Amino acid sequence: HSKARGRGQFAMFGPEMDDHVRERAQQERDLRNALADPSQFSVLYQPKYASRGGDIVSVEALVRWHHPERGELLANDFIPLAEKTGLIRELGRHVLVETCRTAADWSVGKVCVNVSPVQWNDPYFAISVMAILKRSNFDPKRLELEITESAWMENGAICGRNINTLRAIGVTVALDDFGVGFSSLNRLREAEVDRVTIDKSFIEGLGQRRGNETIVKAIIDVARSKGLKTTAEGVQTPQQVDFLKALGCDSFQGFLLSRPLPESEIEAMLGGQPVEEKQLSLAS
Ligand code: C2E
Ligand code: MG
Ligand code: MG
Ligand code: MG
Repeated sequence: HSKARGRGQFAMFGPEMDDHVRERAQQERDLRNALADPSQFSVLYQPKYASRGGDIVSVEALVRWHHPERGELLANDFIPLAEKTGLIRELGRHVLVETCRTAADWSVGKVCVNVSPVQWNDPYFAISVMAILKRSNFDPKRLELEITESAWMENGAICGRNINTLRAIGVTVALDDFGVGFSSLNRLREAEVDRVTIDKSFIEGLGQRRGNETIVKAIIDVARSKGLKTTAEGVQTPQQVDFLKALGCDSFQGFLLSRPLPESEIEAMLGGQPVEEKQLSLAS
């Protein structure tokens, strides 16, 4: 594999490496151009539902890129490149500005925004968030920022300071995708966060693999003992809902309940549209 050739031989790359380098450079150029014309990006919003009562407790902002040639791209198709090139700072800023502007008057408790480890480790991150909140007149208590284990594991002084500064003004912080990284449940006990999101890979296997049930139960128990809320992501069956409810999970996100929706559709949903049957079943 070309990557294995190492730095020293980089100048002697063959046609295969050449293609790879050129494609990567092209993608980076595309991303830069898109950031100069951010209408290529859109933000979808996926609701999270309360275990008790079935109300929408929050919505999560999820970015999409309408690439002029490649069509609609999912976050995982371009976030890694944005992180490697540092362009995630600008992209993340765009998503936050757009979300605060769009969701300022929504009748939903919280709006969740994903934040890359690159952003969390930027010394000016907290200040820039505060400026955006102020300019868009967005109540800090209605913003929840998500952090993944990788940023939290490093838990550099900068990341920690950003978390503290933002929590001090009422922004809450959720540990996203918990369980897929390397941190132990012990680390969870020490984390200065408000919520834990259980990764969908654990939810998928509920009712199929006994091991997953044990892990999910342990995560919820430790989180509760610390006073943290828990959200299960990737909920796709009513059996998973029942199981998670019994364990005391606070809220659910998943295609069973709703897919990520464009602005107009989520607004209709929050604006008192008839409650769907599947939401009602949550309230039982
Ligand atoms: P995440 O933060 O864990 O977001 C949840 C992902 O699970 C979303 O994928 C969502 O569409 C998907 N999902 C929700 N329910 C289900 C389900 O029932 N089944 C399945 N199979 N998937 C479900 P999406 O939108 O493709 O985003 C993927 C990841 O990309 C996100 O995972 C997040 O880590 C990252 N991401 C998305 N938007 C942003 C952003 O604005 N900034 C940053 N830094 N990262 C973002
Ligand atoms: Mg997330
Ligand atoms: Mg997640
Ligand atoms: Mg996830």
